[in-house]
Amino acid sequence: MPRSLTILTLLVFFAFLAPFANAKTTTAQKGEGIYQLLKRNGLSGKESFETFVEINKANIGPNNALYQNRSYKLPESSSDSIVEPLLGKIHQNVERIDNALKGCVFYLVSGHGGPDPGAVGKVSGRIVTEDEYAYDVTLRLGRRLMSHGAQVHFIIRDPNVGIRDDRYLKNNKTEVCYPSLKIPSNQRQRLKQRADAVNRLHKQTPNYAYARCLVVHIDGRSRNQDIDVFFYHHKTSAKGKRLATVLRDTMRAKYKAAQPNRSYEGTVSTRNLYMIDNTTPPVVFMELGNIHNARDQKRILQSGNREALANWLCQGILADRKKG
Ligand SMILES: [Zn+2]
Repeated sequence: MPRSLTILTLLVFFAFLAPFANAKTTTAQKGEGIYQLLKRNGLSGKESFETFVEINKANIGPNNALYQNRSYKLPESSSDSIVEPLLGKIHQNVERIDNALKGCVFYLVSGHGGPDPGAVGKVSGRIVTEDEYAYDVTLRLGRRLMSHGAQVHFIIRDPNVGIRDDRYLKNNKTEVCYPSLKIPSNQRQRLKQRADAVNRLHKQTPNYAYARCLVVHIDGRSRNQDIDVFFYHHKTSAKGKRLATVLRDTMRAKYKAAQPNRSYEGTVSTRNLYMIDNTTPPVVFMELGNIHNARDQKRILQSGNREALANWLCQGILADRKKG
């Protein structure tokens, strides 16, 4: 055989072997299904699912069940579009715009949920609850992060509602905690459950370039007090402080461009909150406004504003990522 052909044959041989020789593995968590395991590793879609089943045949039980703590081979990611059913039927297909956040992982925790609606406000005689609006902004933010190639974990998740464009988001109690744990009504247990979910996922995330936890809330203060979006970080976390500061500066710049006559007074500070003190990745905790204040209500009631908030937060994260 001529030399060039031999080399060609070898190249073809290695190209064929490469995906198998280099196969990454992961360990199944308690209660995790194939879809969730793939998702945790930045994979989704029918093709990934089928390949996974094929390459792990020997370790898959009846009804495609996984065995806890067993090691599984991961398929190569193939597609430029990801499917995230949590985003809802209309928004679940996420096109990849670029890879600005490739290798980045985000743990998104929207406040409250399940039995706990969080702060409860009233608008024109209708009840509005913190958990639903925080969740909607969180989904929108996650979708944008995914479109830049990020791996996104929605820690609080509601399989029944995706992104909603309605003004009034009906309160429900069907939110669960990753992967699909019932949310307890005891506050301390509830916070521990979601912090544990973040920490467990973070421990099992290999070789990330950048990892952040974002906690999204809407405050409940006296009616006459309007507040701008503001941020908390852990007092000893330089990365958390940097992200909080970049997010605040991005908000300020965006407001200045959109509403030049409006001032923006959003703050960055530290505070001892359970989710700040007990999560391992750098964390930013944010309050999007005061649910009882008429001006702040506009920020969360209009779906276009919820989308703008998500967009600006995503822009801030992109800017922070560029810093390293
Ligand atoms: Zn809250």
